[in-house]
Amino acid sequence: MAKHETKHFRGKVIKIFILITILPLLIVSISNLYLVIITRQKNISEYQHLALDNAGEKVLNYIDEKSDGLNLIISSPIGSLHSLLAKDTLFLLINSFETSRPNNLDFIDKQGNLMARIDKNRNIAFNRLYIDELTSREEVGGETDNFIKENNIGTISVVEGNVFGIPDYKTAIAGEQYIGSQEFVNDKPVIRMASPIKNEKDEIIGAASAEVSLDNVDNIIKQMKLGGEGYFYLVDNNGRVVGSSNDKLVKIASNLINVQFVNKLIKGEYVEKENLNNFNITEKNTIIAGKKIDKINWSIVSEWPIKDAFDVIGNIMLLSVIVTVVVLMLIVVLGIIFTRQIIKPINTLSRGAKEISQGNLDYKISLETGDEFEMLGSKFNEMVKVLKENRKLRDEFVFIAAHELRTPVTAIKGYLSMVLEETFGPVPPDIKKNLDIVNSSNERLVRLVQDLLEVARSEAGKMKITKKELLIASNVETVVNELKSLSDKKGIKIIYEKPDKKAAVQADEFKLKEVLTNIIGNAIKYTLKNGDIKIWHEKQDGFLVTHIKDHGIGMTKEQMEKLFSKFYRIQTEQTTEIEGTGLGLFICKEIMERMEGDIWAESEAGQGSTFCFKLKIVNNG
Ligand code: ADP
Repeated sequence: MAKHETKHFRGKVIKIFILITILPLLIVSISNLYLVIITRQKNISEYQHLALDNAGEKVLNYIDEKSDGLNLIISSPIGSLHSLLAKDTLFLLINSFETSRPNNLDFIDKQGNLMARIDKNRNIAFNRLYIDELTSREEVGGETDNFIKENNIGTISVVEGNVFGIPDYKTAIAGEQYIGSQEFVNDKPVIRMASPIKNEKDEIIGAASAEVSLDNVDNIIKQMKLGGEGYFYLVDNNGRVVGSSNDKLVKIASNLINVQFVNKLIKGEYVEKENLNNFNITEKNTIIAGKKIDKINWSIVSEWPIKDAFDVIGNIMLLSVIVTVVVLMLIVVLGIIFTRQIIKPINTLSRGAKEISQGNLDYKISLETGDEFEMLGSKFNEMVKVLKENRKLRDEFVFIAAHELRTPVTAIKGYLSMVLEETFGPVPPDIKKNLDIVNSSNERLVRLVQDLLEVARSEAGKMKITKKELLIASNVETVVNELKSLSDKKGIKIIYEKPDKKAAVQADEFKLKEVLTNIIGNAIKYTLKNGDIKIWHEKQDGFLVTHIKDHGIGMTKEQMEKLFSKFYRIQTEQTTEIEGTGLGLFICKEIMERMEGDIWAESEAGQGSTFCFKLKIVNNG
């Protein structure tokens, strides 16, 4: 029972300890991890959008560079391109061409007529009207021819055409920069750009329009990376891929207009930094973000595989798991130490309480914890001191009472036996019958007084033991004979297996008989009827063990716990009718200890009991 309670308490302490240490630790660790993930998500989003801004800027710079050559301001007040000298027109054409490096470049007059054109091979074409004007101004030949030679110009031919209704011209002549949509010429992305040509008075006198190759945009995008595996791609306003840094997954010239994210982005429905989008364009879980480059109406998209984006978190997680496990182990070790420290004084107290409850009033609880436990221990000791004093008083009282009772009860016994033996004259049968009852009650009183005195003597250390060498068998036989009338009355057979050889032990004969009478007497008393009693001896390590086995009512383990204590009687329905003082076994134990022997019992309720005592063997023969 006590053991069970201790276990229970330890469990409680451990549970509380876990609750106040491990649980908060786990909560902190998990929320920390959660925070790390959230922060990383935010960082990824910010980083991705920053990279997109950067990519957009690079694309814009590239476009600006391309269109730079088209922004012409002529430092003269001329009102029409036609007024330009042939030499100047050629100079401007070559200069613009060198700056923008287009596929071809056109100068268009205010009316929308193509006035001059230069192509990749530096072949020049002039409008017939302009050639006529130049001829009339006698500009053909001479300086112009020299310029043509010096600047490595190819053929000179004629160009015809009017682009009045065409958007590049219309936008540029209205003073705006024109950037057309991307087209593919021979599978190469190209774009048309146009800018106004102004005179020094800032008046628009014509337009420069060029078809620019976008090969280099692709190069710009190709170099862009995000983390280890993230990539970018550029789509035009029709959803066509202009450039990609992952050509395997996103192919140039493919159309992504049907991809939901791209569609939303082009239509301007995507809110930047809206949140993370998990998107499956590449059948890989990626974080996708995009940005529209307003000036050119293109969009740049970046995709970052989740695994790669969160790669860094793996290390953080591993580290925090290791730290958590180490801390948990530390807590468990500390918990065990801590629980032991709490349990230790409780164990000391319960051990003390057990000793005291078993009658050991000399036991002292020593606790030096310097806290309430130590106080409790000393209170326990004080309590035991009071108990001890009370016990001493009680023993003294019992001894005095028994001592004072002995003389009168012995006198009564003597006189009664004389009356019953009719020493004082004949006794009528009905009086004799009543006197028999008085006599047997007095017998019980005499036995009780004797037992009480014996106990008192033993406790005061005054029990007299005179050990001598004696044969146990004859003593057993004597006692069995003395008790025969009792056993016969109940129909109990006593079977005594005498030792083969004479076994002599070291004992006090009178006391040995007292022990035998008590135990064999009990065996008869606690066998309700019929049931053999078997007595035998056994040699064990220099001792002679005597076994007395009955087939009586038996006892349970719990009932046997205090079997050899003073005044202990087992109270059951079966024992209420049986007379006794509860002192017999206590006296037997005292006697045995004083004779350097021992006594013990084995029993099972309803199956009978075996009482055993051992005494030192003197003569092995
Ligand atoms: P008592 O005078 O009551 O017999 P004892 O000290 O001799 O006192 O025995 C103590 C108690 O042990 C008894 O009251 C009885 O309940 C139990 N007991 C002793 N011997 C036996 C036995 N052989 N079988 C069953 N119970 C026994």
